[in-house]
Amino acid sequence: MLWEVMGLASKREGAKISALEAKTNWKLEDAQGDIRELQHEIEQLNLMVKALATICQQNGVFTENQFKDLVDFIDIQDGVLDGKSKKEVQPRTCPKCNRQNQRLARKCMWCEADL
Ligand SMILES: [Zn+2]
Repeated sequence: MLWEVMGLASKREGAKISALEAKTNWKLEDAQGDIRELQHEIEQLNLMVKALATICQQNGVFTENQFKDLVDFIDIQDGVLDGKSKKEVQPRTCPKCNRQNQRLARKCMWCEADL
């Protein structure tokens, strides 16, 4: 009897573990898909920036050094010279009371209207 109960319990645990593994694999595949999509978008942006920089240089809009100086100038505006530019965080304006709210807020903190 004890062995039968333990066997049933371990079968149930096994089924739970299998379900959890399937769910985890699904989430992992989903994340891998997101990463592939982001890599594709980065490569497209890289291509566009190279094309724009090349045509501007060919037409005498700026030299390569002027471009690099401008990149550094824009890079340092977020406070860190790290080869990246953080997205500017714009506050959200309430459509009802016109007051400012945090960018990710869903409800106005002043009048509770939906943002
Ligand atoms: Zn409001």
